[in-house]
Formats: sequence, C-alpha cells, structure tokens
Amino acid sequence: MKVCKFGGSSLADAAQVNKVMDIVLADPARRIVVVSAPGKRHSGDTKVTDLLIALAETALAGKNTDIAFGAVVERYASIADELKIGDAIIATIEEDLKSRLAQVSDLAPAEFLDLMKASGEDNNAKLVAVAFEARGKKARYVSPKDTGLILKGEFGDAVLDPDSYARLSRAFSNFEGIVVYPGFFGYTKEGKVATFPRGGSDITGSILAAAVCADVYENFTDVDSVYPCDPRIVEEVKDGEGIPTMTYREMRELSYAGFGVFNDDAVIPAVKARIPINIRNTNQPSAPGTMIQQSRRVIPGTVVGIASADGFCNIVIEKYLMNRQIGFGRRILQVLENEGISYEHMPSGVDSQCIVVKEQYLPKEKEHKIIQALRKELEPDFITVERDLTMLMVVGEGMCYTPGMLAKACLALASAGISMSMVNQGSSEVSFMIAIRKQDRDAAVKSLYKAFFG
Ligand code: ASP
Repeated sequence: MKVCKFGGSSLADAAQVNKVMDIVLADPARRIVVVSAPGKRHSGDTKVTDLLIALAETALAGKNTDIAFGAVVERYASIADELKIGDAIIATIEEDLKSRLAQVSDLAPAEFLDLMKASGEDNNAKLVAVAFEARGKKARYVSPKDTGLILKGEFGDAVLDPDSYARLSRAFSNFEGIVVYPGFFGYTKEGKVATFPRGGSDITGSILAAAVCADVYENFTDVDSVYPCDPRIVEEVKDGEGIPTMTYREMRELSYAGFGVFNDDAVIPAVKARIPINIRNTNQPSAPGTMIQQSRRVIPGTVVGIASADGFCNIVIEKYLMNRQIGFGRRILQVLENEGISYEHMPSGVDSQCIVVKEQYLPKEKEHKIIQALRKELEPDFITVERDLTMLMVVGEGMCYTPGMLAKACLALASAGISMSMVNQGSSEVSFMIAIRKQDRDAAVKSLYKAFFG
C-alpha cells in the first residue's frame, strides 16, 4: 500500500485535481490520498489557507465576513464547476463554513483560528472524494475524527499524541477503495480541532504512512526531484540531474541548512517506521523523483548536495589556558540556558571557544545582556559576537572514509577568494559545514557546486 500526499499547488484548480486523480488511479496500491487545501494557481494568487485566516480574523474582529466568506467558497466552486461534480458539494462546504463561523464567540481566538484553517483541507478532501466518485471510482472521505488522530500541545503548533498510531492502524484496516483524508489537522482529547504548523499536511501523510506500514510515502509536489543545490543560486542545476536517492541522514542534514522540500517534523514518523519517502512531481508523474530511505549504494568520494543557510551568528570567547578550567564549557552553556537560547554548534581552539547560535535567538537587543553575563561568569580575555554568517553544508554518505573532501571544498572557496570563519565536521562524516560571510554565499555555493558536481 502507498500513502500519497498532494500539496496545495497540486490541487489548486480542476485541471490539477484531474491530474491527481489520474496519478492515483494509475496505481492500485495508491489507496490513501492525503490532501492539502487548494494552493496558488499562479504567483499572484492566494492559498485557501490564507483566505481562511483572513476570514477568521475578520470574524474575530467582529466585522462583516461576506466578502472573505465568498472568496473561500468561490475557490471550491470554481473547481467543482469545472469538474462538473454537481452543486451538492458546494452547499455542503458553505454549510460547514457557516457552522464553523458561528463558533467565533464560543472558542478562544487560537482555537477558532485552527477550526477555520482546518476547513481548507477538510472541505477539499470531501470535494476530491466526490470527484473520484464522479469518475465511477470507489472513494470515500475519511476524517481524522473517525480515525482517532489526536493532537496535543498548542493550537496552530500541535503535535501528535503517539497513542493515535494504534487507533489509526486499526481504523485503516477496515477501509476499501480509495480513502481521501484531509491533511494538516486533528482533534484534541477534548474534541477541539487543532492544526500542525503551516505546511503540516506533510506531517499527516507521514503519520498515516507509519500507521499503516505503507510500502512508500509518496509526496507529490511541484518539482521533479530534490536538486543537489538551490537552483535560484546555481541556475544550471535545473538542467542537470535531480538526486535519485538519498538517505534520511542526508535529507536531515540538507534540510537543516535550508533545503525546503520536506519539513523536519514531517520526516520523523516515516523515518522512525523506516518508510521510504518519494518526492514526486504532480505535473511530471512519469519522473521517478527522489527516494529518501534508510540506506543507499554510495560511490566513495561523492556528495549528494550542497546547502546554505543564512541567519547564524558566532559568539567568540578567548581565554588563555581555558582548556585547563574544569566546567568552562558548562558555564557558557548555563548562561545561554538561563536566557532560553539554544545553540547550534560549538567548535573550539586551544584557548578559544565558538558558540554558533541562530540570529533569531540572539537578536541585537539581547546581545549586551548575554555578553555581560558571559564576562561575569568566565572572565574571558576577549569576547565578541560575529553576525551575518551563512552556513554552507556539504552532505553525502559517500564522503565517509574518503580523504580530501574537505580539502576540495577549501580549495574551491580559496580560488573564489572566500574566507572561512569556521569549519565543523561531526564524527558521522556524512557532512561538514563551513561558516562564511553572508555576502559571499552565492559565490561560495557556485564554487562548491563546480568542485563537486561540475
Ligand atoms: N494548507 C496548509 C498550509 O498552507 C497546510 C499544508 O498545505 O500543508 O500551510
């Protein structure tokens, strides 16, 4: 059995919904179809989820909701009309939205917002199920409520209650035909609708794949495959090959440094259950896409991708003989912990220690306070914060035990006249990272791409 998830761009209009149905019907193993809300039809368009947020905010502000309400209904109506699946489904969607809106004063704002946001996927799943039936196929809409998908934590940022797996696996053992399931939301134990963070339909798909022990979790989006580096930086990447297979570890390392294809939280359920993830293109269904799995055959000395992420800063601390001071590292981290700052990396020299932190956790306003606290705690000879750093990440299982990989990267950067602020390689050898100044990012990625893939 395959679980396939279709993102918003794959369901943005009737033509896209038809493509989705063709894809599902082309393979009888595609039995569970997870859908997002309709996304953008073109670059200036608005996603249904964003229309729903606007509608919810209008209602919360006590203003007239007619226009915002009409904008949401119109998106579904244009899809249903073109698919010629009848008016009943639009009436159902209108009724559903009205009954949700009527709860505006009964719920806390965050709860109401989730109730409204979730309707995007919920109503789309109903519509897509009707569209399958109109083609004479056995399909049914199944809700997270019927299958016991229980969430906990904060509204808008909820996480799965792990007890849900047993309920989901039991529920799915009974269904025949195609199940169309809405992504992005579940229910709290108290029966309230709660959503995952934005983009959370990927998480739902991954959870279902794990719950039913699917052979593969197919994630259909609008790119042919994962590319070895950002095509916005290195244009020729698009003309070359996408990545055919990569391991979960490679995926994690690349997504850490900005590969946006799959969100970290979404990977976890599939990874834990060792379900391969196949990233595929709805607009190019014959392309095999990228398969992400536990292991793969690697060619020694090769890398799979080069990522870059902006927004890092580096706290540099120097103190003569710091290596002999017991507890020096612990005291640094204690200061950060007291301020609720999580650190990313801690490369060190003999008498120097760097702590790499995301700039969002150490804004300029907080810097003085942290430096003062570190001065008091450590009495350093020198302390400063370097800002505007970009982290380059070179990733590949094929780098393990191969001499000269880092040398190749350093040489490429040196030839491009780029100086490195920090180099870090963990013992897994599956990646190494290099911090550079942000303004050198594009030139750095280009030179690394040329060195490893050119
Ligand atoms: N529709 C939701 C969003 O736009 C969830 C999703 O598409 O995955 O964030």
